[in-house]
Amino acid sequence: MNIRIEKTTTPKAKPDFKNLGFGKIFTDHMFVMDYTEGKGWHDARIVPFANIELSPACMVFHYGQEMFEGLKAYRGENGSARLFRPDMNAKRTNATNERLCIPNLPEEYFVEAVKAIVDVDRDWIPNEPGTSLYIRPFIIATDDFLGVAPSKTYKFIIILSPSGAYYASGLAPVGIWIEDDYVRAVKGGMGFAKTGGNYAASLIAQVKAHDDGYSQVLWLDGVERKYIEEVGAMNIFFKINGVIVTPELSGSILPGITRNSVIQLCKSWGMPVEERKISVEELIEAQKSGALEEVFGTGTAAVISPVGKLRYKDDVMTINSGDIGPVSQKLYDTITGLQNGTIEDTFGWTLTI
Ligand SMILES: *Cc1c(COP(=O)(O)O)cnc(C)c1O
Repeated sequence: MNIRIEKTTTPKAKPDFKNLGFGKIFTDHMFVMDYTEGKGWHDARIVPFANIELSPACMVFHYGQEMFEGLKAYRGENGSARLFRPDMNAKRTNATNERLCIPNLPEEYFVEAVKAIVDVDRDWIPNEPGTSLYIRPFIIATDDFLGVAPSKTYKFIIILSPSGAYYASGLAPVGIWIEDDYVRAVKGGMGFAKTGGNYAASLIAQVKAHDDGYSQVLWLDGVERKYIEEVGAMNIFFKINGVIVTPELSGSILPGITRNSVIQLCKSWGMPVEERKISVEELIEAQKSGALEEVFGTGTAAVISPVGKLRYKDDVMTINSGDIGPVSQKLYDTITGLQNGTIEDTFGWTLTI
């Protein structure tokens, strides 16, 4: 892939890396590549970060044919940039693309593009503990057409956003609302795909949970509203009687890369791991009997998010006295250590630029 690079002549002042927050500051450049039916992906370029012009008839505005990914670059030694399992994001891109009738994007294009844009804006990778450069690749349908059909043209864009430590003062357990009315996805739908529509469907329950003082929604299956699926933008894990349990990938759950890493790490430590159906009743019983030892979410943004409180209808369950469990802490320390390069990577998960 040949990438044309046009650098900005007016670089922005760098923000205060101690005070970044998430997703509001963008770097000097962006990657853009076009797709045209019959021609394939073409015109890969890195250009100054700027608004893009689209017709109001542009398909993505009407029927939501779009996908996105999320990964991070971490500052390594001697000015190097470190990526964590970008090949997995490339693979998942195509699983999403297939579901949404978006053309396949060769995996090597995805990884090359991420490496190239991070290289150009590497000075934007913050170096404070817990900070990183969030990478947001996405594809939108760009035909100007109001008919319902797959678009014949697309744009693949990557933008970068320096982001602060998810937890300003260490890993803090969160409260989770188990949603028993709205559902996020059903088998046969697009729950396994990383696409904006799933998030649009989730907002109403998230607003409800926030209004009640809970930070995230835990979704139940869309048919029986009985089995645990996932949390907001995270997969969910339970430690029950020493066993690590997580919902199986049923088609309605997003196959998280952090989820996959957690499973591999726990197995490498000799811990029993079960990917299976887990009902909300089983959870309540386990909590009552004292068998529910830890609950945590997994995702690129927070890495590991310990859960201190779970609400289901009128029941409020406190997990591990509201404290972080030892497995949650060990997973967080290990994964962030692998990402930053302070722990030796025996899995071959990291890529240095
Ligand atoms: C991205 C995402 C996750 C987490 O995936 P990671 O690859 O671990 O970041 C989980 N659930 C949903 C709905 C997501 O969009």
